[in-house]
Amino acid sequence: MGDDHVSVRGVPTGLFIGGSWRSSTSGATFAVRDPSTGDVLAEVADATPEDGITALDAAVAAQQEWAATAPRQRSDVLRRAFDLVRAHEDDLAALMTLEMGKPLAEARGEVVYGGEFLRWFSEEAVRIGGDYRTNPEGTGRAIVLKRPVGPVYAITPWNFPLAMATRKIGPALAAGCTVVVKPAELTPLTTLFLVELFRRAGLPDGVLNVVPSLDAKGLSEPIIADRRLRKLTFTGSTPVGSALLKQAADNVLKTSMELGGNAPLLVFDDADLDAAVDAAMLAKFRNVGEACTAANRFFVQEGIADAFVAALTAKVDALRIGRGTEDGTTMGPLIDDRAVDKAAGLVDDAVARGARLITGGQRVERPGSYFAPTVLDEVQPGSEILTTEIFGPVVSITRFATEDEGIRLANDTEFGLIAYAFTTDFPRGQRLAERLETGMLGLNTGVVSNAAFPFGGVKSSGLGREGSHEGIEEYLETVYVLTPDP
Ligand code: ADP
Repeated sequence: MGDDHVSVRGVPTGLFIGGSWRSSTSGATFAVRDPSTGDVLAEVADATPEDGITALDAAVAAQQEWAATAPRQRSDVLRRAFDLVRAHEDDLAALMTLEMGKPLAEARGEVVYGGEFLRWFSEEAVRIGGDYRTNPEGTGRAIVLKRPVGPVYAITPWNFPLAMATRKIGPALAAGCTVVVKPAELTPLTTLFLVELFRRAGLPDGVLNVVPSLDAKGLSEPIIADRRLRKLTFTGSTPVGSALLKQAADNVLKTSMELGGNAPLLVFDDADLDAAVDAAMLAKFRNVGEACTAANRFFVQEGIADAFVAALTAKVDALRIGRGTEDGTTMGPLIDDRAVDKAAGLVDDAVARGARLITGGQRVERPGSYFAPTVLDEVQPGSEILTTEIFGPVVSITRFATEDEGIRLANDTEFGLIAYAFTTDFPRGQRLAERLETGMLGLNTGVVSNAAFPFGGVKSSGLGREGSHEGIEEYLETVYVLTPDP
């Protein structure tokens, strides 16, 4: 790519199977668009179901040899890929801004965050251990060892085009698994470029394969039904995750599911107001709210509510809407017009049910898919916005009186990915950690994502964890060998 950050020259647009770039067997391609203008950025090969199985063939053929490589060799490839990702920070950031819309500064942040999964798992690759145990009766010894689960199919979403790929590819490769990736059809270019970096890092042929496709279901079903596949890892919406789990059940596949969220953000009367507002801005407006970790339901205690709403609204009104490539932009477009319509519909429903519209509330009239950053106060029970993942720049505030009421409201959802809470009372923080139904809690902080810590949800938000030492376990099987007494 060029230095002007607006060219996608040099980014591969084919399928990557068995170590080489190729066209779809149908010859078909599909368009990838810039959501800030609607312009076509590139035409990408549209994999057929037959191409999907060819990619699985390649992953299966490479599996045994990759599993048998020295851990240090897998570690070195991942480390070189990490170095290449960091060396191409500008290119990767520009690419994400172009195909997804986030401001360049945020895209750079994702290169660092997403790259970290490669460094972290390059370090984990050489720490896969086992142990030696004694039977409680004293007779009999067991050796417990770890083995790669086998070929992996990874399906990723469009909102974090780099990080969602690296946090699956990193641990899979470290564990000794080969991979077929299907990137989101809205943002395949970042993954294609990432895979090219892996090729340059010396990854053996067939270990990592990429099949972009417009027909996610048609491509995925035969791969998931194929008995040679051993693991399915998915990040996306709960309905799709649930349908994939049903398919995975037929062959009892090992699965990891990072699904939807409906994150509560609790602000207590004793919170540090300025710190809470700054963190809340990140929790809500990072990635234009297009994150499963985005704060979806704000619950603010009555004593601090007026001050919080005023301070937050001032910051919201100061956001600068624009193309992610423009200097000074702090909020880019939504991914497409459907996302704009969804945000508008949720705001209209909340207002019709009695919420107060403090600021924003409508589409921004300019080319591209923009929605004005919005604050709603006194959102009423029964409003759709309380049960729907907004995935847009809309703050929904409900006021509460007591800690018990706040916790009850926060837990009143089928989801449990992340919660945020702002309080200076440490024992209260501990009570929240024990009582909130969530996989993650940001206590006085608005961003928790970190390659070194276990990311994942409870309830309908998913199964399994990504990142940290837990992350590699998702790609390992445990084998136990009983041995006689020495
Ligand atoms: P979102 O609503 O955020 O786009 P989705 O769950 O629809 O989330 O998409 C996440 C990923 O899942 C994308 O790569 C998409 O192509 C893929 N996907 C969507 N539907 C299916 C399906 N039925 N089978 C397999 N993959 C799917």
